[in-house]
Amino acid sequence: MTSPAFSANSVPPVAPLTADELAHAESLDAEGLVRFGLERYGPRIAIASSFGLEDVVLIDLAARTGLPFRVFTLDTGRLNQETYDIIDRVRNRYEVDIEILFPDPSEVEPMVREHGPNLFYDSIELRKRCCQVRKVAPLGRVLVTLDAWMTGLRRDQNTTRTSVPKAEVEPGTGRMKLSPLADWSWDAVWAFVRENRVPYNVLHDRGYPSIGCGPCTRAVAAGEDLRAGRWWWENPETKECGLHSR
Ligand code: SF4
Repeated sequence: MTSPAFSANSVPPVAPLTADELAHAESLDAEGLVRFGLERYGPRIAIASSFGLEDVVLIDLAARTGLPFRVFTLDTGRLNQETYDIIDRVRNRYEVDIEILFPDPSEVEPMVREHGPNLFYDSIELRKRCCQVRKVAPLGRVLVTLDAWMTGLRRDQNTTRTSVPKAEVEPGTGRMKLSPLADWSWDAVWAFVRENRVPYNVLHDRGYPSIGCGPCTRAVAAGEDLRAGRWWWENPETKECGLHSR
């Protein structure tokens, strides 16, 4: 399975889905919705991947279509080595170029100089500022090249995600956001990975259901919430980095 590199530069913008198309998209299963998104948007859609379990499933589903597809990821500069390892494994297995976006040094350097490298532990405000600089701003740079993006969000990941639709028009931008796995359970994701021998981040085998930056993610105990290991010092209601504000 290969994904030829292709560019959005020479492709005119694609209109958002109509109400009927949105309803149709919502009715599709995951593989159907991935195919629908790729056929409809071509190089104007991309998979947003942090290389957690859901994200590698999306990449596998996209590869199955035989269509070219784009994948981007945000290298915050604070990722675990295991995450770089899975990026390489996915590149090799699916022969897909990964668009890796870095934060702007002119924003990172003064922030770290003023507040230190571990500023995220000092306050929610500083944690959100770090996420803004290292994640949200680079995301903005890739989203302007897109009319739609695909995410691995699922409704049972966290209290902040219980109403995630499979297809929605983002307020303000009109950009489509597709979450083909929205109605999948954690067990269903694992079953797909095992059945199809999808490569995954080895941190999942060490108690990390959700994987983000190294200093802001830890393993969780049996029975804990799937996102309990993300910013574990904060309340559940604040546990979003701004990438998926609703
Ligand atoms: S998850 Fe932590 S290290 Fe990563 S960008 Fe957010 S605050 Fe910074």
